[in-house]
Amino acid sequence: MSIKTETSDILKRLGVDPKTLSGGDLAVRTPVTGEQIAEIASISAAETGAVIDRAHEAFKAWRDVPAPRRGELVRLLGEELRAAKDDLGRLVSIEVGKVRSEGLGEVQEMIDICDFAVGLSRQLYGLTIATERPGHRMMETWHPLGVIGIISAFNFPVAVWSWNAALALVCGDSVVWKPSEKTPLTALACAAIFERAAKRFGADAPANLMTVIIGDRAVGEVLVDHPKVPLVSATGSTRMGREVGPRLAKRFARAVLELGGNNAGIVCPSADLDMALRAIAFGAMGTAGQRCTTLRRLFVHDSVYDALLPRLRKAYGSVSVGSPLATDALVGPLIDKAAFDNMQKALQAAKELGGTVTGGGRFDSGDADAYYAHPALVEMPKQDGVVLEETFAPILYVMKYSDFDAVLEEHNAVGAGLSSSIFTTDMREAEEFLSARGSDCGIANVNIGTSGAEIGGAFGGEKETGGGRESGSDAWKAYMRRATNTVNYSKALPLAQGVSFDI
Ligand code: NAD
Repeated sequence: MSIKTETSDILKRLGVDPKTLSGGDLAVRTPVTGEQIAEIASISAAETGAVIDRAHEAFKAWRDVPAPRRGELVRLLGEELRAAKDDLGRLVSIEVGKVRSEGLGEVQEMIDICDFAVGLSRQLYGLTIATERPGHRMMETWHPLGVIGIISAFNFPVAVWSWNAALALVCGDSVVWKPSEKTPLTALACAAIFERAAKRFGADAPANLMTVIIGDRAVGEVLVDHPKVPLVSATGSTRMGREVGPRLAKRFARAVLELGGNNAGIVCPSADLDMALRAIAFGAMGTAGQRCTTLRRLFVHDSVYDALLPRLRKAYGSVSVGSPLATDALVGPLIDKAAFDNMQKALQAAKELGGTVTGGGRFDSGDADAYYAHPALVEMPKQDGVVLEETFAPILYVMKYSDFDAVLEEHNAVGAGLSSSIFTTDMREAEEFLSARGSDCGIANVNIGTSGAEIGGAFGGEKETGGGRESGSDAWKAYMRRATNTVNYSKALPLAQGVSFDI
């Protein structure tokens, strides 16, 4: 069966009308073979405005539904996702090229965040705060915020939506989602899955509670500029964040920015090298280096460099590359030709700085329009130039270090601040890495790699990664507005700070 036929069969099973897959202006390609698998219609700017207006009406109804009841909708969404897991996981593999277990893993992450959000729907609580005035009570209340705009990147085409949408929905918000123009099919599938959950939930779920809008950045810009969207959660490159952040700030809207990473690991003298090797291999080569948390820089202590590097070179030389649909390969394709060209440019720049490259060439899958690359291991004399930037491809730059304080400085000396890890069995080094003078990233790990976060923690990073947090912990607070309420149940009117104003 052709990939195109399989795609349309999957979408049909998931509830997407096959008519939406042809005749549109947006060509959808699978990176697995490079072939076109659908042409779907994108939305105009005027229509986008109308969608947001309708989502605002939905918000006005949804905010009155009690939060635990809102949680029931997300529970049903989790059930629908469980039923759809195989199909949706396969569709992720088709549309993004993720290997099978990673496609399924992405859907599992959606199920996990739904479970988390269901519990959260009974825990949206504020504080009661001691007041200085007798006969008074002070508290904070969390209220729904409004229409939440979600802009997502191609590399996590469905999980990022669920991290935001599951929280937004229990928080009493409506959702308008602009997926990457490279991955509209998985988004249409999610919309159909959501609609099934909403139908089972019943009349309390207003129409237009969650809408997908298909289009490129121009459509995203409407969402960013619209006065009825109080929060935009935007996931993508730092370039995108530099455009979106100031526009949101201009109209005082909230931003959850989840941008690029240039994640590093440190391998210390006491490291368990077997463990480090596996973690490095998955972190750097998994998802063909197309995770925001992909390991891109590795600092290895000079006492273990010669023990680790030959093993790492061997792993790079033997890792399987190939079709995620037809083989059990661990590394699938890059998203497109531009990604492959960027990788080659970065490798050339690294060579000019004295880097020694293992791998990095094109893997011939037999399809001229598919771009597979052998992951590249680049031994660098020092951290400089291209090493300081994120290239969204499987390139790992390796550097030697000898002094712990100096390597911590090097570790933090890049623009991005997303994820980081240290491999050590020395408690002092581990704790220092996690301390205020250690890693400056939003995620700092010990003896595990930089990628593969669980949903229970808040996810995001500092500096050029944008500062946003989504998913677990108290990330939900961004999706609500806080009111401080003071109630006077006395018969007097004392003013705070002892101020008197007697009329
Ligand atoms: P991208 O920046 O090209 O696009 C991301 C999304 O932003 C797309 O939906 C795109 O249409 C939209 N967009 C682009 N410019 C816009 C603008 N001016 N206004 C409104 N919308 C706009 O990113 P990509 O290539 O799809 O994804 C890869 C990047 O995303 C990498 O840099 C990666 O590190 C990052 N990423 C970060 C996280 C995170 O959580 N920090 C997660 C996944 C990916």
